[in-house]
Amino acid sequence: MSTNIRRNALVEISSERPGVTAADAPSIDINAVFGKYSFTENVQKERLSPKIFRSLQETIRKGKRLDPGIADEVASAMLKWALELGATHYTHWFQPMTGSTAEKHDCFIEPRGDGLPIAKFRGSELIRGEPDASSFPSGGLRATFEARGYTAWDPTSPAFILKHQNGATLVIPTLFVSWKGEALDKKTPLLRSGSALQEHALRILRLFGNQTASRIESTMGAEQEYFLVDRRLAALRPDLLVTGRTLFGAKPPRGQELEDYYFGAIHGRVLAFMTEVESELLALGVPVKTRHNEVAPGQYEIAPLFETANLATDHQMLTMRTLKSVAARFGFLCLLHEKPFAGVNGSGKHNNWSIGTDEGENLLEPGDTPGENAQFLVFCTAVIRAVHKYGHLLRMSVCGAGNDHRLGANEAPPAIISVFLGGALDEVYNGLAEGSITPGTKKDPIEIGVEPLPPINRHSGDRNRTSPFAFTGNKFEFRAVGSSQNPAGSTTVINTIVAESLDYIATKLEAAVSQGQDLKSAVQKLIVEEVKQHKDIIYTGDCYTQAWKDEAAKRGLPNLVSTADCLPHINSKEAVELFTKYKVYTEIELDSRFEIIGENYLHIVSIETATALEVAGTLILPAALKYKSKLQSVATTAAQKALLDKLDKQIDALILALDSLRAKQEAFPDDGTQAKANYVRDAILPALAELRKAVDTLEESVDDNIWPLPTYTELLFAY
Ligand code: ADP
Ligand code: MG
Repeated sequence: MSTNIRRNALVEISSERPGVTAADAPSIDINAVFGKYSFTENVQKERLSPKIFRSLQETIRKGKRLDPGIADEVASAMLKWALELGATHYTHWFQPMTGSTAEKHDCFIEPRGDGLPIAKFRGSELIRGEPDASSFPSGGLRATFEARGYTAWDPTSPAFILKHQNGATLVIPTLFVSWKGEALDKKTPLLRSGSALQEHALRILRLFGNQTASRIESTMGAEQEYFLVDRRLAALRPDLLVTGRTLFGAKPPRGQELEDYYFGAIHGRVLAFMTEVESELLALGVPVKTRHNEVAPGQYEIAPLFETANLATDHQMLTMRTLKSVAARFGFLCLLHEKPFAGVNGSGKHNNWSIGTDEGENLLEPGDTPGENAQFLVFCTAVIRAVHKYGHLLRMSVCGAGNDHRLGANEAPPAIISVFLGGALDEVYNGLAEGSITPGTKKDPIEIGVEPLPPINRHSGDRNRTSPFAFTGNKFEFRAVGSSQNPAGSTTVINTIVAESLDYIATKLEAAVSQGQDLKSAVQKLIVEEVKQHKDIIYTGDCYTQAWKDEAAKRGLPNLVSTADCLPHINSKEAVELFTKYKVYTEIELDSRFEIIGENYLHIVSIETATALEVAGTLILPAALKYKSKLQSVATTAAQKALLDKLDKQIDALILALDSLRAKQEAFPDDGTQAKANYVRDAILPALAELRKAVDTLEESVDDNIWPLPTYTELLFAY
């Protein structure tokens, strides 16, 4: 066998054969699997007394305050259920601002006085936990000497059982707050933003005569993109292991240009992996629906059916966790990074967002009658206005070192936030803005107010894949979310900015109606005014082009290319006004987010820098020098010596780039998070890019037998 471990890994991978034939594949009964490990409404009904069940359902469905008196009975029913499923421990599961999830497990067992053990789970333990929280980022919200943070049960998201190799744990979704009640997590602001959205959306519904809907929630379906890489190759890439992305790697001869991969037949080993992921998720009650190959080789997507945003977010976090854990079992490394490979498509998470009532009405669904369409247009207009006013906050909600590689670069979608409406709706809004909508121009004209409008066919909107915020028939799709991000952050911002617009619109309409105007003409007037004010956010063309960048600049739309540019918007005066008005974040909480997000950016780039220096200095440079000596010993002709000359120059360029990055790293300013972030953007990242260029150039010269890192071709195609 070759002495090159990279080659050995490849030989091993290529000689691997799948374990079972298709005919032997196990059959899965999805009806029996779904929700098997979730404390669903059904299970609650079965195991709780009718009174307690009703009370819990009031909280879950209507948002009524939880009656702490029911906690003991719910806890003991949960315990019994969990023990039957083999659980030994429980955990309060929460979403700290690290962007992932956190859990600390406690055993149910409690010794009795006589020394005999007994399994116990009290209501108080269900409702509240007190993890030692001093090591979670709080951005100054909680000094370490006051390390207490509380987890509080979120009864609207069902508890579930996480099975592992050697047992199981009862997992209770919770909020995570400081002892003063400040949000230390992502779930708390999400729930608060939902309340704001509900309050103002209900005002609009009441104006339109709906007196019966009592609850309104944002809904979400998150499409998750990811890459799979064989672990044997990934293990040879310290950059992948440590940073989740390749810091080096020359462009492969073949990338995604053949366009034969998207929706292509799924490789057997990958399909087996996907099936396992889905079975696990279905058992947890996550309604996973769709799987397919994505654009880039080695890239895939998984998407669920939509649910209310809070539940969908928990399920999204579980999806990311499950992808990673199942991948390990199948010998893959699952990459959720936004840009694991330069020059190859990056990974996003499309946040499909809408608003739904407890009566099952989707408020962004164009209706069949003039009245319904007027209401739809009000909600749609509110979204357009919100994105125009606060597009920079949307961009801020998805910032981060990883996502900058997608949004700032020439890739889907751009950092400039705009709205795509699609054919029919475009016509309606254009017509309204120009006053050119006239009766009888369409087959079945419908009306809002006095002017007849063309019908809005929800299937007539063509797709624009380049738009960051697109109307897709009965929902908006926010495509700028990063594949590794908790979608709660972006949903919180969408909910809040739309609540602000609905508040503004409801106030105007309520005033008009109370002055005796009829609703239809008030709506007509308002929509026309708002469209004129905010039509600059609407863009139908290709959002990747320079022409759009120029046009967007003319329209005054911000282009926040990097996290450093987004940071000031987290706790700007405007953000503080907006988020405190709708009780989503306090000013102190926003300041803490600024620190946390800023520091996270700095940490990530600093880890990347250290890793790049190490890999380039201790793997690449020695390999290049080894090749040089090999070449030196054989070069005789002028052409061969020229080769050596060229190699010398490339090696020198590498040494210079290493020195330059090191020097920049040492000259880091010491004056606050923003200044440091700016320095990262202006000095560190360009130096990292220079180093990358030097390494990637060498990759194309150095003997492949000596080159230590698996190449892009191997990472993307060998499995
Ligand atoms: P496509 O994007 O190909 O049209 P779908 O329309 O099926 O695919 O939806 C993509 C995602 O949007 C899915 O996760 C789906 O559940 C979600 N979705 C559909 N309707 C809504 C809605 N009303 N609110 C939120 N998400 C939705
Ligand atoms: Mg998609």
